[in-house]
Amino acid sequence: MHELTICDSLFRILAREREARGFDRVHRLKLSVEHFSCLDPESLRYAFTVTSRQTFADGALLEIEQPPGQAICQDCGAEVEVESHVSACPKCGGHSLAPVGGDEMQLIELEVA
Ligand SMILES: [Zn+2]
Repeated sequence: MHELTICDSLFRILAREREARGFDRVHRLKLSVEHFSCLDPESLRYAFTVTSRQTFADGALLEIEQPPGQAICQDCGAEVEVESHVSACPKCGGHSLAPVGGDEMQLIELEVA
């Protein structure tokens, strides 16, 4: 399951932050996940609730931001913002869009105690 994989890497990031900053609990966190990652925010939230149970992130509020992805159109060469892999190029209507920057998940805010 994709969401569990993301949760896994999220927890690796959180554990690293915790080691570096020495906090006890996570109150709130905000993720930025590009539309390209085909992620379902509700499933991720659920996976997070399950994975964080009995950990330092138990009960933390998870916010998810989904900025449009950047892509290059292979047909006309335009750099465009698109909502998903299956979007057409807004400039020429072509369907050969190549994502720029991949589908990284980023932790953009972290509120701890
Ligand atoms: Zn195009």
